[in-house]
Amino acid sequence: MSAVNETIIRDVVAEVLGKLGATSTVTSAAAPASAPASKNDSCGCGTKKASSTNTALRGKFGVFATADEACEAAQEAFLQLKAKGVEARRKIESIVKSLAEKNAEQWGKIEFEETKIGRLDHKIAKLGLIKLVPGVDWLRPDARSGDHGITLEEYTPFGVVGAITPSTHSIPTLSGNIVNICAAGNAVVFNAHPSAAKCAAVAVRAYNEAIYREIGIENIACIIEKPTLDSFNALCKNEFTRLLLVTGGPMVVKAAMQTGKRAICAGPGNPPVLVDDTCCLTRAAQSIISGAAFDNNLLCIGEKQVFVLDHIADKLMQKMSENGAVKLNSAQLDKLTKAAFTITPGQGGGCARAHTNKDFIGKDASVLAQAAGINIPSGTQLLFGETDAMHPFVQEEQMMPMLPIVRVKSVEEGIALSLQSEHNYKHTAIIHSHDVENITAMARALDTTLFVKNGPSPAGLGLGGEGYLSFSIATPTGEGITNPRTFTRVRRCVMVDNLRIY
Ligand code: NAD
Repeated sequence: MSAVNETIIRDVVAEVLGKLGATSTVTSAAAPASAPASKNDSCGCGTKKASSTNTALRGKFGVFATADEACEAAQEAFLQLKAKGVEARRKIESIVKSLAEKNAEQWGKIEFEETKIGRLDHKIAKLGLIKLVPGVDWLRPDARSGDHGITLEEYTPFGVVGAITPSTHSIPTLSGNIVNICAAGNAVVFNAHPSAAKCAAVAVRAYNEAIYREIGIENIACIIEKPTLDSFNALCKNEFTRLLLVTGGPMVVKAAMQTGKRAICAGPGNPPVLVDDTCCLTRAAQSIISGAAFDNNLLCIGEKQVFVLDHIADKLMQKMSENGAVKLNSAQLDKLTKAAFTITPGQGGGCARAHTNKDFIGKDASVLAQAAGINIPSGTQLLFGETDAMHPFVQEEQMMPMLPIVRVKSVEEGIALSLQSEHNYKHTAIIHSHDVENITAMARALDTTLFVKNGPSPAGLGLGGEGYLSFSIATPTGEGITNPRTFTRVRRCVMVDNLRIY
């Protein structure tokens, strides 16, 4: 709205209210954010208005003790963003991207020190990548023009999004989510993983301070300082929370789907890799190592098990050794397996179940090697060893830099075992092959959200392949690699019989 129009409208409304004997409460869209939102401000969604006089919301820069306070502050910020328009969204996007890059080293370090999982260099690298997350320019309205006029479909915000972030990439997920969610005009409240919540709060505070300085909005991205299951429930229940975004394992996906709110779920994966005899084995070995070793295999898209045709298996493993991965023999692998998993015997004829030992998740290859009773050269990024298809390293989403290699007799068997080990998560699968029929057969059978051919898994997120980046890949609910449009409502605006200009 132009300044002139806004002034005229404000004056007219004030006059009308004056005639009705009421005090004018019309605020300027350009009013500083520290001024409380007007009582008349509403997003039009029909939910309760955020209180305009709650001084407890001031000076927190997004970090709140309770979900209810955080949601109220976020709702107020959403209305402020609505008033300030698209240019303010652009500023938020650019602030988050530049602060993530500027603070990558410091924030990578505090996240690594708090979580003690993954690799410091890769924690830093992930924050440097936030600039690749799509923002405001992603949203383009769809238009129709014809004999009956013109129609516009706009991608408009929901309001407050409740977001749950994982321990595996706390600040990167949070930062990418803010870019996507706020680019679409929403505000967000995070319930981070308890073991990665302090670093997340540091980033949230820094983002809000910078956003407040630039555009006067104080709480566009909020976080619950000490997250718990209770705060998760309170966040989901809060009436300002219009939509949920969950990034995590099976339990939180299930919990979000039971809340009754619409949930976009970026769930677990267990990505299989199939290697056939038409591919370049050097390229396959290098790709498998770089994908599986990244951040000690914490990525949900990371290569977790390899199925390889029997007659090229030795050659592939030779290439992996030549490229720096270290092979465990069967005694060493048994020793590591006993340390890395607890096997619960099957009950009443059921199968035995392996539970991953948290002490080994995201640890360096040297820590795993020690448990296997082997000394490895310093700087080794990945271990591998031969297993059968039902081995816990194949069946569990183990998130360790130890890759099981399974021999298969045919491509068909490799596809069948890949499908079984992916557990219907429909997340990610990888193939190394130059045979289009094999590639097509695996793509159709696996039916995953991401399918990468002849490259490392991160190529599926625009890192060495074409495409864009997100740290939240919505798998069970089907939205795919999340982007600003994921967090919008589509609204249609129709002009009948006019404005088509020829
Ligand atoms: P996690 O499931 O333990 O925790 C994820 C989040 O959910 C945390 O904030 C945690 O506090 C919360 N949570 C867990 N159980 C909950 C429950 N019952 N009720 C409410 N909240 C609950 O996962 P993690 O170890 O932090 O992260 C690794 C998992 O996340 C892996 O399974 C990985 O594949 C998945 N992940 C998926 C994506 C994706 O884009 N699809 C991205 C990153 C991680």
